[in-house]
Amino acid sequence: MNTVADSHQFVIAKFGGTSVANFEAMNKSADIVLANNHVRVVVLSASAGVTNLLIELAEGCDTDKRNELLQKVKQIQYDIIDHLQTANVIREEIDRLLENIAHLADSASLATSDALTDEMVSHGEIMSTLLFVEVLRQRNSHSQWFDVRKVMRTNEQFGRAEPDLEQLKALAQQHLLPRLPDSVVITQGFIGRDAKGRTTTLGRGGSDYTAALLAEVLNLSRVDIWTDVPGIYSTDPRVVPNAQRIDEIAFDEAAEMATFGAKILHPATLLPAVRAGIPVFVGSSKAPEAGGTIVCDQTVNPPQFRALALRRKQTLLTLHSLKMLHARGFLAEIFTILLRHNISVDLITTSEVSVALTLDTTGSTGTNGSLLTNALMTELSALCRVEVEENLALVAIIGNQLSQVNGLGKQIFGVLESFNIRMISYGASSHNICLLVPGDDAEEIVRTLHSNLFE
Ligand code: ADP
Ligand code: ASP
Ligand code: MG
Repeated sequence: MNTVADSHQFVIAKFGGTSVANFEAMNKSADIVLANNHVRVVVLSASAGVTNLLIELAEGCDTDKRNELLQKVKQIQYDIIDHLQTANVIREEIDRLLENIAHLADSASLATSDALTDEMVSHGEIMSTLLFVEVLRQRNSHSQWFDVRKVMRTNEQFGRAEPDLEQLKALAQQHLLPRLPDSVVITQGFIGRDAKGRTTTLGRGGSDYTAALLAEVLNLSRVDIWTDVPGIYSTDPRVVPNAQRIDEIAFDEAAEMATFGAKILHPATLLPAVRAGIPVFVGSSKAPEAGGTIVCDQTVNPPQFRALALRRKQTLLTLHSLKMLHARGFLAEIFTILLRHNISVDLITTSEVSVALTLDTTGSTGTNGSLLTNALMTELSALCRVEVEENLALVAIIGNQLSQVNGLGKQIFGVLESFNIRMISYGASSHNICLLVPGDDAEEIVRTLHSNLFE
C-alpha cells in the first residue's frame, strides 16, 4: 500500500446493509475501497435484513419460528461464503457465530432483555465484516479486521447507548490509529461495549454515527456514507419518485432532516462531523459514478424549502388537569416524571388546562414501541387525566428562515385542506415546521407538499 502522509488525509467509508447484502454488493463496495488509496477505515453494517432477523430472534419465539429465522440468517452468510476461495476457513468461523446466535435465541425464549438483544444483533456486523475481509483478500488486498468494541466505549443504555467520547478518543488513538498508515481497517458500525464488557448498540441505523465518531477522534479528512441512493434528496425518493437530489447541503439543514426522520443519515451522525468540521459525502455504492451529496459547513443561497422528512410511529400524549388553571409547576412535574422514565419529548403544545406532547418510538433496538410502561402511566395518572393516541406520523418541512415568510401558514394549510392535522409546531426554529398527522395519511401528505412546494 502506498503511504499517504498522515491521518489528516485519510477517509473513512461506511457501507450500509444493502451495500454488503450479498457477494455482488460486497464486491461493488470493495471496488470503492480499492479505488481510493485514502480510504483507510471501513465501517460496515450487517448485511441487509440480518439485524431485523436477529431482533426477532432476540424477542423470543417458538421452535419453528426460531429455526426459520436462524435458517434465513445462515443462508445470507452462506450465499456469500459460497463465492469465496477461503470458504472452508471462514465457514468455520461463521458457523461458530451462528451457534452463538442459536444459544442466545434459546435464552431469549426463556427471558428477553435489552442486553441480550444487543449481544444478539452485534453478530450481524461481526459476520459482515469478517466476510468483507475475505472479499478483499480475494481481490489481493490484505485488510485488517478490527473489533470496534475495543474502542467504542459506551454507557449501559442497551438499544440506544451513548458513546464516551473521551475514552473512544484515547482508545482509538492507541489501538486504531497506528494501523492506518499501512493498512485498511475493516470494522463494525453500530456496536459498542460498556464498562462491564457487555455489548451495546447505538440505536437503529447507528453505523453512520460510528463512522462519524471514528472520523472525529482519528482526525480524518472525510466521511463517505455509501448507501442505496446516490445522495440526499428533497425527500425520501421511495415516497416521492420526483424527489430532487441535493448536491450540497449545510450541516444544520442535513442534521434537521436526520433528526426529523430522513433515514438516509442516523440523527446523531452530523454532531461529530460538525464538531470536527469534517465534510460528509453520501453516495450510492451501486452507482458511485452518479456522484452524491456533500454535507459541509455552509452553502451558497440555501433555498427557502429544503426538504421534507417523515417520521413514523409517533405517540401523542394529552394530559388534562384542572389544577393547571393558573397553577405553577404542572409542566415541571410532568417533565420530572418523563425524565425519570428516560423519555424524551419531541413536540409540545399547551392550553390553559392541558398539555399535548409527542414521543418518538423509533430508533432503539430494544424497547421499541413500549415507552409507555405501566409505571409511567400510573405516575402520570396520579397527576392528571392521560389520553394516548398512537399510529401518528410527523411530517417536517425543513428550510431556511421559514418563520420570516408572510402567508406561509396559508400556503401549507391550503394545500393540505383535505387532511386532518393533529398538531402543529411552528416558530420554535426558523428551520422547520412540523405537522403531526394520522400515520395512514402521512405519505400522501408528503407527496402533496412536495408537488406544491418543491416541484
Ligand atoms: P443504509 O442501510 O445504507 O444505511 P438506509 O436504508 O438506512 O441505508 O438509508 C437509505 C434510505 O433512506 C434510502 O433508500 C431512502 O429510502 C431513505 N431516505 C429517506 N429520506 C431520504 C432522503 N431525503 N434522501 C435520500 N434517501 C432518503
Ligand atoms: N445494522 C444496524 C441496523 O440495521 C445498524 C445500521 O445499519 O446502521 O440498524
Ligand atoms: Mg442507515
